[in-house]
Parts: sequence; structure tokens; C-alpha cells
Amino acid sequence: MDFTLTEEQSMFQKVVRDFCEAELKPYAAEVDETGEMRWEAIRKMKDLGLLSLQVPEAYGGAELDTISASIAVEELGRVCGSTALSISAHNGLGLGPIVRWGTDEQKAKYIPMLTDGEHLGALALTEPQAGSDLLNGAQTTAKRDGNEWVINGQKAWITNPKYAPVIVVFCRTDANAGSKGFSMILVDTDAKGLTIHPPEKKMGLKGSPTQMLTFENVRVPESNLLGEEGSGFYQTMQTLDSGRISIGALSVGLAQGAFEEMVRYAKERYAFGEPIANKQAIQWMIADAAMEIEAARTLVYKAAWMKDQGMNYSKMASMAKLKASEVAEKVCHDAIQIHGSYGYSREYPVERMYRDQRLMTIGEGTSQIQRLVIARNVLKEF
Ligand SMILES: Cc1cc2nc3c(=O)[nH]c(=O)nc-3n(C[C@H](O)[C@H](O)[C@H](O)COP(=O)(O)OP(=O)(O)OC[C@H]3O[C@@H](n4cnc5c(N)ncnc54)[C@H](O)[C@@H]3O)c2cc1C
Repeated sequence: MDFTLTEEQSMFQKVVRDFCEAELKPYAAEVDETGEMRWEAIRKMKDLGLLSLQVPEAYGGAELDTISASIAVEELGRVCGSTALSISAHNGLGLGPIVRWGTDEQKAKYIPMLTDGEHLGALALTEPQAGSDLLNGAQTTAKRDGNEWVINGQKAWITNPKYAPVIVVFCRTDANAGSKGFSMILVDTDAKGLTIHPPEKKMGLKGSPTQMLTFENVRVPESNLLGEEGSGFYQTMQTLDSGRISIGALSVGLAQGAFEEMVRYAKERYAFGEPIANKQAIQWMIADAAMEIEAARTLVYKAAWMKDQGMNYSKMASMAKLKASEVAEKVCHDAIQIHGSYGYSREYPVERMYRDQRLMTIGEGTSQIQRLVIARNVLKEF
């Protein structure tokens, strides 16, 4: 048991780990090869609360604290990066804004369908020409026409659309209002004029669908506005702060998974008459990985704890995400090194983990953007 966890959190961790070992780990290579998630397992996640991590109990959710939610994502990431990314995006990006800013009617309509074990949620911020700089670059517009919004534009690199009954879409609603010119709008995926393109062919996380969306005069009722008109940019920043804790947790999970493979292999593989684990050069890699994973996990838990205390956790979330993603990169790299040629082969999971972790320094704000957020906060504090 980790000393930072309560008994309840430790128990939850064990339940999720057992589930992941049985239902996800043996199938992770297949998910990667086929590009299809294991829905048999996802359906079972419903009863464990993994599909409604921070949804209030009043809406049938697990209503977990943020450390527990991070534990869940870490455990998923430890065995299957694709599933972890889709479940993380579902909870944090798809459900998160609806739970936080949805009206009673919106919650009553969308939360049950998103948590039924047959669907996943999605949030569409990024566009073909704008990721880091949404403020200046986002061009998808929503214009009022009578009692409807008419949406036009394109979104790119969106996780989960093919499983989503509804997508939260970041739209420009006033071209002259700067950061107050954006709103979040709920778009049902059967809306006329919405095209969901086939999944992108990616380096890793192949089981998690990443898709482009095209909106051509898509009409949705005025009541699909999520929160206040003009608050979309602020909502996005809040959602990303929280999402960064989750990507940090997913990175820790990928690092932990690779670490376990690395240690096991080092003890089994012989060179020069003894297990390679006896060699100091190998031990240094193991020692560094053990230390860095602990450091990353501690930052993730701290950011999660600060969030639950109602503190400003933006800087800590960026630190957690930046540190954990860089740790995942290094640990997965070293795990392959310790495996030698076998690490370069698809026969061993470290090859997949290395490809999967590569997104972590890019998605939900690149490492460069995390450093900007951290520096901005530090400079303000002094
Ligand atoms: C698998 C996957 C899943 C994704 N899921 C989603 C999703 O569900 N929803 C969603 O909306 N998006 C999603 N994305 C998109 C992702 O969040 C963006 O790709 C990311 O924010 C970076 O944006 P960009 O690719 O446009 O890069 P750009 O913003 O074009 O950046 C390119 C490079 O320039 C650097 N850069 C940019 N600005 C600065 C600056 N001011 N200072 C220094 N360097 C800078 C960046 O760090 C980067 O290295 C996903 C992407 C992938 C690959």
C-alpha cells in the first residue's frame, strides 16, 4: 500500500488492478494490432465505476475523488495505453464539462447514455490548423439562427467520436470578443451535416480512435449550449487543467508497466554468465526508473489532492503532466534498451508501450505549453 493513499483508495486500486490484469492485459497486443478496443471489457467497467469516475452519485456515477480517478487511469495505462486514453478522454473531456456546466436537463439526457457501457464521450477542441493556439487559430463557428445554432468548420485529432452519441464542441460564437468569443456546444453525432471521418493511422494508441470531424451547417437546438455563452475558452482551460492530471496518471501507468517488464527481463536474461540485472549499468537504469516513477506519481497525486481541496492547481497539473510524460518517455526507452533486440520486437510489450507513450508529451498541451503555463505561474507568484 502506498502511504499517501487511504485504505479506500488502496482497495479501489487493487480492484482496478485485478480487473486490468484479467480483462485488458492479455488482450492489449491484439487491441494494438487490430485497432479495436475490447468492448467486452469496457462494458464490465460500468460496474466498477470506471465509466463514471467523477460523475455524482445522483446521476448514477462513482463520484470518486481525483486521486482515485488518477489511480484508475494509471492502472489502465499500466496494461493498455489505448484503452487508458479512451477512458481518460471519456471521463475527463467528454463527461467532465457536462457534469460541471450542464443544466439539469442536459445531465439527465446525456449522462445516462454516456455511462451505459455502450458509448464513450468526446471533446472537440483541436482543429487542422490550431492546437496550442486555439484562441487565435480556432475557426469553427456557431451562429444563432432562430432558436438553433448553426455550426460550420472542422475539428481534428479527436479521441472517441466513433463511440460517442454526443460530442462537446468548442466553437467561436463571437468573432470580435477575443477570449470571450467562444462557447461549448453539445452536438449529437446523428446530427445532419456532421461527418465523422475514419480513424487516423497512428504511431501508437492504435485502439483508441482519433478522428477528424466536419461540420456543414449542422443545426442543434439553442438549449445545447453548455454553460454560459462566451465562457468556452475559460471552460477549456479548466477542463485541460483537470485533463492534465489524467494524462500525468496515464504516463505514470505506462512507465510503471514498462518498468515491471524491464525488471522481470533483467532478472531472466543472461549475459557473460549471469543475469544482466547483476550489471551495474542495468541497475542504474532500474534505479533511475524506480525513483523517477515515484517522483512523477507524487506530483500527480499532489495535483489531484490540490484540485479536491479547491486550490488553484493549474501549475501543479502542468508540472505533473510534464514530469510524468518525460518519465514515461525515458523509462520506456530504457525498457527497450534492457530488452536488447527483443525490445524492438512486437513479441514484447515494451515496443508497444514505447509507441503509446509518445503522445503524452503532445496531447492536452505539449511539453512546451506546459513549460509556458508553469513559468507564467511562477513569474506571477514572485
Ligand atoms: C492521439 C491523439 C489524441 C488527441 N485527442 C484529442 C481530443 O480528444 N480532443 C482534442 O481537442 N484534441 C485532441 N488531440 C490534439 C492535441 O491535443 C493537439 O495535437 C495538441 O494540443 C498540439 O496541438 P497541435 O498538434 O496543433 O500542435 P501545434 O500547436 O501546431 O504545435 C506544434 C509545435 O509547436 C510548439 N509550439 C506551439 N506554440 C508554442 C509556443 N507558444 N512556444 C513554444 N512552442 C510552441 C508545440 O509545442 C509543438 O511542438 C489529440 C491528438 C492526438 C495525437
